[in-house]
Amino acid sequence: MDNLYYSSTRGNGKKVLPSEAIIQGIAEDGGLFVPDYIPSLKDKLYSLKNLSYKDLAFSVMSQFFTDFAEDELRKCIDEAYDKKFHSEFIAPLVKADGTFFLELFHGPTLAFKDMALSILPHLMKTAAKKLNIEDEIVILTATSGDTGKAALQGFSGVEGTKIIVFYPENGVSKVQKKQMITQEGNNTFVVGINGNFDDAQTGVKKIFTSKNIKDKMKQKKMMFSSANSINIGRLVPQVVYYFNAYFMLLRRGEIKEGESINFVVPTGNFGDILAGFYAKKMGIPIDKLICASNDNKVLYDFMNTGVYDRKRKFYTTISPSMDILISSNLERLIYEISEKNSEKTKEMMDMLMNNGKYKITAEMKNKLSDFYGGYATETETRKSIKELYDKSGYLMDTHTAVAYSVYQKYKENIHDSKKTVVVSTASPFKFTKAVMSSIDEKYKDYDDFELIDIMSSMSGIDVPEEIKNLDKKPVLHTAVCEKEDMLESVEKILKL
Ligand SMILES: *Cc1c(COP(=O)(O)O)cnc(C)c1O
Repeated sequence: MDNLYYSSTRGNGKKVLPSEAIIQGIAEDGGLFVPDYIPSLKDKLYSLKNLSYKDLAFSVMSQFFTDFAEDELRKCIDEAYDKKFHSEFIAPLVKADGTFFLELFHGPTLAFKDMALSILPHLMKTAAKKLNIEDEIVILTATSGDTGKAALQGFSGVEGTKIIVFYPENGVSKVQKKQMITQEGNNTFVVGINGNFDDAQTGVKKIFTSKNIKDKMKQKKMMFSSANSINIGRLVPQVVYYFNAYFMLLRRGEIKEGESINFVVPTGNFGDILAGFYAKKMGIPIDKLICASNDNKVLYDFMNTGVYDRKRKFYTTISPSMDILISSNLERLIYEISEKNSEKTKEMMDMLMNNGKYKITAEMKNKLSDFYGGYATETETRKSIKELYDKSGYLMDTHTAVAYSVYQKYKENIHDSKKTVVVSTASPFKFTKAVMSSIDEKYKDYDDFELIDIMSSMSGIDVPEEIKNLDKKPVLHTAVCEKEDMLESVEKILKL
């Protein structure tokens, strides 16, 4: 097979192999790596219908990671989607009140980030070997809560790597924070910042593109890479579960071959939903990709007006992993809808950086028709958790509830009877207080950890092993820094 090459959305012209794109994480000019074309599986789509998750993962990922040998990629897949996942189906599809929930939270950290971060370290290790890279790989990551833990877990103890995670000290749930600061493994570092997720992400991007620190690292035989969803090695594994969801519906006789379905995706950094867009381009019959936002509805406004404007009030919500005003993966969509015009993409991203906003052309806006933007307020989100629980006994986490609530509103506005899958991104056990107090106000006075057993008996779901003794685990990471001091903090950790 010919290689599929990757280049920057901002067009520095250099084409790199898949393994190089994975190792570098972000292009030198600050753009994101995109494949020259999105491969199609249309012709043989239904021959993949009965594959296991792992075999399907191979069929999809091998289209993108063309310089990996079959046994190399299969090994990465085997090491990722193993007993770490609590479901033999990896990503089961559950039906409640006529809607399908694609549960992506059965991995080791109970959030959908595990779907990609359990394989990324293996892809990186393999890529480094292929490229004869001997430098130590330093993973630098900003997290709104779930990425951090999933990345720490994925990279902990992986030879030849170190991982540094920055999180907004007051912007994650109690369980999320505890999961991170108790992380074991002497190659793991966790730092809280006084700032929000966007500050953390902007800080990390700046460090990545600082030549000074990169030179210092080179001398010490170290190099940066990214575990954020800007890394193509995270995006591609996420395409797989869109295929799998479609085939599960097919196998259960819920749909017929070729029948279009919708996905509703609780969105923050636009990585998850972009993977759905790639799946559609590859041939999965998807009608609408419904992009669900919380009160930080910058994407909703963008889809409806064509103006992306991050200059607005930032809300801290009960769905913290979506509290984001700069959706970094949107850059890949901008590139796609501008007909791969890297100059235009760069212009818009520069405007976002310098003026906080940009406007797409009418032509580009027309190409957003694959998407539908919606949002749910805090009250609507809480209400939908209670309503679905009362009706069906199914308990959603807060992020999934944003998506479900948006779907309810979508159905009211647009009479669309297509089968719809809500992408369920976290276990309710990660957000016990917000979930339980949505069902009954009395739980407002309880502690997150106290509610774990109550939630378990109410939902009939066993407490996930990872949560059971979390509150008794020793805190191993206490560092906190100002958002301006992230660079210094990295230099200290790496002893540069
Ligand atoms: C990260 C995350 C999201 C948002 O996904 P993006 O790919 O950033 O859009 C939604 N829900 C949960 C629980 C998450 O962890």
